[in-house]
Amino acid sequence: MAHIDKALIVGGGIGGMATAIRLAEQGVAVDLIDLDPDWRVYGAGITITGPTLRAYARLGLIEAIKAAGAITNRSRIYRFDGMLLRDLEEPAIEEGLPATGGIMRPDLHRIMQERVRALNISVRLGLTVSALTPDADGVDVDFSNGDSGRYALVVGADSVFSGVRRLAFPHMADAMPTGQGCWRISIRKPPELTTGEFYFGGPNPAGITICAEDKVYMWLLTPHEKRDAHYSDAELFDTLKGHMAGFGGSAGWIRDTMSRDDWINYRPLAAALQPRPWFNGNIVLLGDAVHATTPHLASGAGMAVESALVLADELAAASDIPSGLAAYEQRRFDRCRDVVETSISVGQLQLEHGPPDQIAGKMEGALARLNLPF
Ligand SMILES: Cc1cc2nc3c(=O)[nH]c(=O)nc-3n(C[C@H](O)[C@H](O)[C@H](O)COP(=O)(O)OP(=O)(O)OC[C@H]3O[C@@H](n4cnc5c(N)ncnc54)[C@H](O)[C@@H]3O)c2cc1C
Repeated sequence: MAHIDKALIVGGGIGGMATAIRLAEQGVAVDLIDLDPDWRVYGAGITITGPTLRAYARLGLIEAIKAAGAITNRSRIYRFDGMLLRDLEEPAIEEGLPATGGIMRPDLHRIMQERVRALNISVRLGLTVSALTPDADGVDVDFSNGDSGRYALVVGADSVFSGVRRLAFPHMADAMPTGQGCWRISIRKPPELTTGEFYFGGPNPAGITICAEDKVYMWLLTPHEKRDAHYSDAELFDTLKGHMAGFGGSAGWIRDTMSRDDWINYRPLAAALQPRPWFNGNIVLLGDAVHATTPHLASGAGMAVESALVLADELAAASDIPSGLAAYEQRRFDRCRDVVETSISVGQLQLEHGPPDQIAGKMEGALARLNLPF
């Protein structure tokens, strides 16, 4: 990439690391910064759908993910009380590529971090940007520790509350709450569980993803209740257990078996497809910073990795950075809009207690569209 000597990636999560890896592989000198001094990720699992697995295959990390995670070739839909309704249509998209799977987030993070380190990408932690000044040839950057630098390209991959977005994209706004919150628990695998499972038709939808030989995570979505304080560990445990009343099957097993030592988290959901343009001079946004979605299609990570691949491809093909950024935005906008809008509408249907078949149909339609080449 002759026209990009040096790039700064702000945010070392899924999208930022994927971008750093791809640019560094193409000869760009990459600096990666992250606000978190310990560069951690929380202890949940993550569902990796077929398109996400395809994106990780393109990034060269699929074998490591298969080894650390779990591959399941099917998901099943149950009524909340444990009665099997049907299989979810999830055809494998490519020969040799698993249909779906899961992995613990810390394992995925470690795999991506190892690749970043192996490429000798400079990583600075506990750091963010405080000012960004783009001009015709690049971007002047002020860092939060008083340092400054100049880069041909700055990528904002700093997630839903993006600082880069606030500094350089005044036409955008914060993501909007969707009215739902997501409960997650990481726990050992229920004995009967062999596939991914969804539970619909009860007071609150839930699902289970196998993430390693003996690890799963379960999610449960509830209407978000505004509170003044965070939940204490005891409240998280008691409230989640209470929400699971009436569940059967493996979800019921988790309710009856969960202990206070299991990792439990609650997070209100927010989403936004940000309006175009997604770049300002040579500053560009990627991942949840510009296409923040909810977990309903389990596709946020896949979209972030796909965006990283497309950004690097288009920059490599273009004669200059602005035309590469315009081509990236053009290729990504409609696909990301589909994910964000479908996810929000599935959430809305769940809040209205819509029929399980209608919810499953919406999910299957979107997942089939996501199987198309990106
Ligand atoms: C409850 C929930 C469940 C989900 N489940 C799934 C799932 O099963 N499957 C799936 O594919 N997707 C899922 N997602 C979505 C997925 O996690 C995100 O879409 C994905 O992580 C986005 O990647 P990202 O790189 O944009 O952001 P992140 O992966 O969040 O990374 C952002 C990074 O930026 C850093 N950062 C933040 N602010 C700053 C700053 N100002 N300066 C510097 N660094 C900063 C953070 O420390 C972090 O390291 C879920 C989301 C939620 C909310």
